[in-house]
Amino acid sequence: PPIEKRLLVTGAAGFIGANFCHHWLHQHPHATLIALDALTYAGNRHSLAGLERHNGFRFVQGDIHDTLLVERVMTDHGINVIVHFAAESHVDRSIHDPDTFIQTNILGTHNLLRVARGLWLDGPQGRIPHRFHHISTDEVYGTLGPQDPPFRENTPYAPNSPYAASKAGADHLVRAYRHTYNLDTTTSNCSNNYGPYHFPEKLIPLIIVNILHNKPLPIYGDGRQIRDWLYVEDHCRGIAAILDHGQEGASYNIGGCNEWANIDIVRLIGEIMDELFARDPRWLQAYPQSAAAQGRKSADLIQHVRDRPGHDRRYAIDATKITEELGFRPAVDFPTGIRQTIRWYLEHPQWWQKVMDGSYRDWLDAQYGER
Ligand code: NAD
Repeated sequence: PPIEKRLLVTGAAGFIGANFCHHWLHQHPHATLIALDALTYAGNRHSLAGLERHNGFRFVQGDIHDTLLVERVMTDHGINVIVHFAAESHVDRSIHDPDTFIQTNILGTHNLLRVARGLWLDGPQGRIPHRFHHISTDEVYGTLGPQDPPFRENTPYAPNSPYAASKAGADHLVRAYRHTYNLDTTTSNCSNNYGPYHFPEKLIPLIIVNILHNKPLPIYGDGRQIRDWLYVEDHCRGIAAILDHGQEGASYNIGGCNEWANIDIVRLIGEIMDELFARDPRWLQAYPQSAAAQGRKSADLIQHVRDRPGHDRRYAIDATKITEELGFRPAVDFPTGIRQTIRWYLEHPQWWQKVMDGSYRDWLDAQYGER
């Protein structure tokens, strides 16, 4: 990768993209970082608030399909590194409407690869130092039985949802651009992230926000689906380590070594929130609609709903490679990260209230058929 990295971050107003922009500019306050985002329902300009104080930061509202725009932004700012987060990311939505997943995750990624190839390999100066880092998921590997060893980088791809298949398609295109055109690429496949700026349709923020409204906590099926969870800041550190020292053409699994069943996470969040509200009456006043303020235990709100079709039972990551090669390991343990996340949601109601606009609520109502 180039020595002076000038970044284009796609999907920068989404959950992980926004966390990454904060992380990178905190580490490199004078860096060039152009945040590109189409601001779909999942994108939130407010998640990047405060970054304008960095001279090298710009936000551009735009679509990764827009070839001319991407070319112009990259040329104007001398971009030599793309960190590609932009995607449709919600499995449930991919079941109801796979088309946009194919559009954005496969065709959108291909458009970025094509533009990068044109500018970095075939531009007026010939080949220039560059890096295309693609953010992917552990879901490309399919599902695991209870006794199966965790996913490694050479585990065969077996995506089960349209979301996972579209991400797998993108991963293959990134790989093909390296092998065919010698584009300098890296890919990371990460487990489930949690932390600040997480859109409240995903499990952890949904549970926190519903407890704050004394609303049912929907659990798919028996709730015994197992996921590996990683604090988003740790994911950002892992990506930064790959940008700095990752092997060209390599892919890295990033995980938390932290397997939890969904139902146990919901119970843990409930216990922590009950305890926080019991200890600090400030929160009872701030959230008069909350379970605690209404005299209920969070766990009483748990409601099992029909399981997602084709729901994978277990994902687990073997992250030995990134630890051995790049010295990266997660720093935040799960109970600490969950506490920090709950605190962040309690302290930032203006952020999540804004994102939960009418269209999102309609979708949620259709999804869970209540409230
Ligand atoms: P997110 O849905 O919160 O954010 C996606 C962002 O991409 C949004 O801001 C959206 O506006 C933007 N976007 C969508 N289509 C676009 C387009 N055509 N052009 C420009 N911008 C567009 O997703 P996230 O959870 O932050 O995930 C980011 C990436 O990380 C995704 O590629 C996802 O597959 C991957 N990933 C996520 C997780 C996780 O736990 N959230 C785990 C592993 C990998």
